[in-house]
Amino acid sequence: MQESIIWDEFLKIVKEEEGSQVVETWFKAVIPQTIDPSSGVVILTVPNMFVLRWIKEHYFGLVERHLARLLNTPQISLSLVTEKQLTPQAPAVIPHFVPARTTLITQNGQEEHEEGTHSPTALVSQQTAKKGRPQTPINPLYQFDTFVVGPSNSLAHGAAYAVSQSLGTAYNPLFIYGGTGLGKTHLLHAIGNEARRRSKDVLVHYETADQFIHKFIQAIRFDKAHLFREQYLKIDVLLIDDIQFLSKKEQTQETFFHIFNALHEQGKQIVITSDTTPDEIQGLHKRLISRMEWGLVADMYTPDFETKVAILTRKAESAAIDLPEDVCHFIAQSVNSNIRQLEGALVRIEAYASLSGQKITLSLAQHVLSHIADKPREAPDLFAVAECVAEAFDFTIADLRSKKRDKDLSAVRHIACYIMKKATPQSLRAIGAFFNGRDHSTVLHAISKVEDALKTDMRLAKKIEKIEKRILSAEKA
Ligand code: ADP
Ligand code: MG
Repeated sequence: MQESIIWDEFLKIVKEEEGSQVVETWFKAVIPQTIDPSSGVVILTVPNMFVLRWIKEHYFGLVERHLARLLNTPQISLSLVTEKQLTPQAPAVIPHFVPARTTLITQNGQEEHEEGTHSPTALVSQQTAKKGRPQTPINPLYQFDTFVVGPSNSLAHGAAYAVSQSLGTAYNPLFIYGGTGLGKTHLLHAIGNEARRRSKDVLVHYETADQFIHKFIQAIRFDKAHLFREQYLKIDVLLIDDIQFLSKKEQTQETFFHIFNALHEQGKQIVITSDTTPDEIQGLHKRLISRMEWGLVADMYTPDFETKVAILTRKAESAAIDLPEDVCHFIAQSVNSNIRQLEGALVRIEAYASLSGQKITLSLAQHVLSHIADKPREAPDLFAVAECVAEAFDFTIADLRSKKRDKDLSAVRHIACYIMKKATPQSLRAIGAFFNGRDHSTVLHAISKVEDALKTDMRLAKKIEKIEKRILSAEKA
């Protein structure tokens, strides 16, 4: 299906589900810039920030769901951009897009086609025709210079940048892992953007492992497995997102293994992301795991407070949102888990402020975010945290709560305090009380010790992240 047909089809569905008013008010002025079935990348241009925020707030899920279905792909990578936002990116965008054909009516009433540069569309088909090989769209908004670097992501960022500067030689493969919403996909696209910026001839291919599986199954169904493999062998930079989806897919793994080997042998760059280390991916063949460990395995963690503040400040600036410092700090403190949610909180606050005609203030932000917090959230209690921390370091809860002060035990107690503050709604005082009547300044001191250590100690960060995951899964169970 062509882009415009898909888009028309989508509008019809929205009209049926949400009414024509919604289509008229919010979707009529949206221009589909890229809708690429093979990579699932969808980029929509909206007239201004207000519409962008409104759609993001109210219709993002709907757009994702229906377009994925229409594109016959399990998942799409959806971006909304304003026309203004796109223009400064133009140099990076141009190599991957061809200008759209715009129709002008000439004086004698005839239609004339002109190559315009304002609303670029995906060029997949045209470049394919030219070079005889596929070219997939990369999200132009995910660049290295829009990525804020902090201790939690500096290794992955540094490695990704190095790879983009010397393809196939710096680290091959580069394997990036970390929790959801921490910036893995952003870095993959940034590599793609940078590689294409440096050389137009480099064939960059991005897709999620899910899309890879889906395409592979289609190929088998139509007896085209051979062609499928051949297509991949033309690629210079292969960017595979969320490789954990290959788990237990024997046949797809086998094919991926051969593609991997063939590309690697030719010195082609491979970058892979996952939510865990290669060896922790369940149901992945050993030989594939060992391939992934050949190059560099780089981790990403939940960002610390300063990084969150820097990200919020950057996002607010680029969206021209007037974000007071106290509000910024409040959001950074309230959102613990990931950067996607950090962005979501900012958008929500801004949408609320502009709709109600108010300025963004701390009390407004508290009001908006308390609304999120009102939803039942499984906040673990102090015991649950203590239990997981104690277990992770081979102590008992009684040890942690005792007055014993040997060095190892104190350090573990500090970690427990840190996680308790982060993961539970309890006050410093309540945490102190839990530890046998220690006062709140002792708890504060413990937390800041851990925060200091986290600035340099990545192993500690990893350990804490693991414990936090355990706590969450214990809560759900
Ligand atoms: P993941 O793939 O790890 O789930 P994404 O790459 O999709 O996460 O990131 C989620 C959102 O957060 C994206 O909008 C991305 O641009 C943004 N983001 C993540 N890390 C950073 C960062 N360090 N600086 C700026 N934006 C970031
Ligand atoms: Mg991702």
